Amino acid sequence: MLSEAVSDGAAQPLISVPPAGARDARPGLSGVPKAQLERWLSERGQPAYRARQIADHVWAGAAQTADELRTLPAALRRDLDATYRLTTLEQPELTPADGGLTQKALHRLDDGRLIETVLMRYPARGWRRARATACISSQAGCAVGCPFCATGELGFWRDLEVAEIVDQVRFWRQWLAGVGQRLTNVVFMGMGEPLLNVNRVLDAAAAITDRSRFGLGARHVTISTSGVLPGIERLIAAGPAYTLAVSLHAARPELRDVLVPLNRRYPIADVVDAAGRYAATTGRRVTYEYVMIQGINDTPADAHAAVNLLRGQLAHVNLIPMNPVAHTPWQPSPASRVDAFAAILRAGGLGTTVRRNRGVDIGAACGQLAADRAGAPTPAAIARRQELLVVRSAAAISAARR
Ligand code: SAH
Ligand code: SF4
Repeated sequence: MLSEAVSDGAAQPLISVPPAGARDARPGLSGVPKAQLERWLSERGQPAYRARQIADHVWAGAAQTADELRTLPAALRRDLDATYRLTTLEQPELTPADGGLTQKALHRLDDGRLIETVLMRYPARGWRRARATACISSQAGCAVGCPFCATGELGFWRDLEVAEIVDQVRFWRQWLAGVGQRLTNVVFMGMGEPLLNVNRVLDAAAAITDRSRFGLGARHVTISTSGVLPGIERLIAAGPAYTLAVSLHAARPELRDVLVPLNRRYPIADVVDAAGRYAATTGRRVTYEYVMIQGINDTPADAHAAVNLLRGQLAHVNLIPMNPVAHTPWQPSPASRVDAFAAILRAGGLGTTVRRNRGVDIGAACGQLAADRAGAPTPAAIARRQELLVVRSAAAISAARR
């Protein structure tokens, strides 16, 4: 069981969250398979072309309720509203950063749970076309409990439905249309562990990439995982060549056990092996994400361990200075440390990019806003957690030096 793998003092939720409200029983339309909608229409004696009309509204329109679908007869609109929801997300609060290039949205679900998405826009530069990337959530909360991650503090609330995932993408597509831009990339790097909700994530990714629905290229959809081995096997079996990102953060097992508690269940060497098979079947290189934490995982020894782990892999490493999160004792690595680390990886033959943090001032590390809204942990809980993390990481670092 996952809870066994991750149950550990430092990985316990820090914040006690109030119980969820009642769910809306009506499925979100963007998650309803085409055949099911067609059957529903034919049971009501509706012509087949209604399915296409409804799909046009869902995939290209901006309506929030069935009542706004004026191409449909009023009785059908009422019926549709009684059975399905046009969107599963309330209008979110938006917080801009980076001069408006980054936007963070806090979305409320039907049961009152909060999830976050971030839009990052990159203007055209030289031969590179403008890009707009939506970073979306796959779960409300997360059970993995990585101690540097704000979502990890919350613990696990629930899996998102297919429509709840797809509607995040629809929201940003509509928002971008309002400023005359297009959504070009989707990354599952918001709240939650996508491969612990793998069936729905795969269905949502299929909708996002289906030509008759969203039509984004598979390579423009990135699925990020902390290393759920069976989930990677599912991806290999499923076939589409999405971009796979593995959250590495430490190559040495003792330290990764602390930074990504799932490592105790699925050791990183096995995860790299599975990711290598995904790369071989899809021909797509795997991205390894490495959050740089000062004095914890940013030493030359850590860099050499990463080179040894990834040597010969079809892989690329992204180094990301940690976004400061309120309740850890840790700080981002200084630029000089990040550059020295990158130099060792490159000398070892690994393609490496140093990422600039986007939206640090709005807490754009996903989960931060939701964690703030969920309430403040007690000072005693924070102190206990910080002490545990200091002791754990120090023990892991000295074990690796022996
Ligand atoms: N659960 C998945 C995807 C969501 S997290 C995963 O862990 O891969 C997406 C990325 O954000 C991961 O690489 C995660 O490690 C990173 N992240 C989490 N907290 C962060 C922080 N405080 N600063 C920088 N990156 C962070
Ligand atoms: Fe979950 Fe990813 Fe955060 Fe770890 S980094 S707690 S796996 S969301």
